[in-house]
Amino acid sequence: MNKQPYAEPWRIKMVEPLKILNKEQRAAKIKEAQYNLFSLDAEDVYIDLITDSGTNAMSDRQWSALMLGDESYAGSRSFLRMKKTIQELLGFEYIMPTHQGRAAENVLFSAMLKAQDVVPGNAHFDTTKGHIEFRHATAVDCTIDEASDMDSQLPFKGNVDIAKLKACISQHGAQKIPFVVLTVTCNTGGGQPVSMANIKAVSEVCKQHKIPLIFDSARFAENAYFIKIREEGYQDKSIKEIVKQMFSYADGMTMSAKKDAIVNMGGFIGLRSEEIYRQCCTFSIMFEGYITYGGMSGRDMEALAAGLMESTEFDYLQARISQVKYLGDEITKLGIPIVKPAGGHAIYVDAKSFFPQIPQTQYPAQVLGVALYVEAGVRGVEIGTVLADRDPETRVERIPKMELLRLAIPRRVYTNNHMDIVAWALGQIWAKREDYRGLKIKYEAPIMRHFTATFEAL
Ligand SMILES: *Cc1c(COP(=O)(O)O)cnc(C)c1O
Repeated sequence: MNKQPYAEPWRIKMVEPLKILNKEQRAAKIKEAQYNLFSLDAEDVYIDLITDSGTNAMSDRQWSALMLGDESYAGSRSFLRMKKTIQELLGFEYIMPTHQGRAAENVLFSAMLKAQDVVPGNAHFDTTKGHIEFRHATAVDCTIDEASDMDSQLPFKGNVDIAKLKACISQHGAQKIPFVVLTVTCNTGGGQPVSMANIKAVSEVCKQHKIPLIFDSARFAENAYFIKIREEGYQDKSIKEIVKQMFSYADGMTMSAKKDAIVNMGGFIGLRSEEIYRQCCTFSIMFEGYITYGGMSGRDMEALAAGLMESTEFDYLQARISQVKYLGDEITKLGIPIVKPAGGHAIYVDAKSFFPQIPQTQYPAQVLGVALYVEAGVRGVEIGTVLADRDPETRVERIPKMELLRLAIPRRVYTNNHMDIVAWALGQIWAKREDYRGLKIKYEAPIMRHFTATFEAL
């Protein structure tokens, strides 16, 4: 009854003023952008929820760490500090910086993967899948079936279905499987976490078949938070202890530091095997840079090390994940359908039930994205038919099961007052939802059409 209200464990030292256009101006801007949200100038957006990647606010400690950057080409103090932090936090012996997460995939997969290989896991992230398919290998999604049920309230919807994983291994044979990749939290699955019990079970299957287990770790700290609050037996463990245990089951990892290292650019690979590390060195030098900087400046490695220490603090994660949940709760209160439960980094609005009058071939999630921008200057991103693109062979449009507008929340950037605006604006659109009509594509690129497609109103 008389519970103390919640507030963030930080205060604001520096602000970035935002431009706020009026509704008519926004309607003109999005028309000019031909209804593609990527084509807007960021300045014309009030609340930007297009991604939580690289859009984080750094702390005073991270900013001051930048000043300590050692820009030596080889063996810089900053690299050594980053390496020591990662070794202590995650427990990997060999650490290799890269300029971002997909670069870590590029280097590691160059060393470990060949044509005709098979890589099972929970739902693979786009760039991970891209790097697998580019090498003429196949990604097999072994996520539990409940992951694609929007209303299922399971606490760990990012889990691997162990039976599917075993079936995949017996179908293709362990020699065809150079590694299993486990994404924590599962981005493609809506930022849903993987339980410690599932991580352990996956690792046991991998060990039986002598297959290395690699974590795609972009949101590992958010995953650890969910384990602490949702999984039996972890309530009294610190986030850092949970993180250490999670990674103890992995043989290697790739990291996009643009997520849970709370920086704007960066990434790295962590490994236990000296042999694989040696192979990666060659590819790092070719693609990224010398092995002690790999596309990062010394100052950025300092900020990354400081960010990892902060993102594995319970108070920070509580503020972060409570804010995502807060937005989800506010939207749900209005009767608007979203994917449940709220993920770690984003809320996904179900555009198919929002606009039942608009067929998927007229892009209801894109319509909702455009409407939300016009209503309040809020920018989300379509995860639906536009993104699903065409079948590369038949060129027929692929119609995905879920048609979603993703609202991804940058770390430490917006207040809950901003979240109130987002929910309010969705409520305004909801109240007049029958008035909206679909969109038609005017131009599309042969692949990855969502970035540059142009639309016209029907
Ligand atoms: C963002 C992301 C990547 C790719 O990282 P970039 O830093 O964007 O290159 C890989 N995997 C997951 C799960 C991600 O969220």
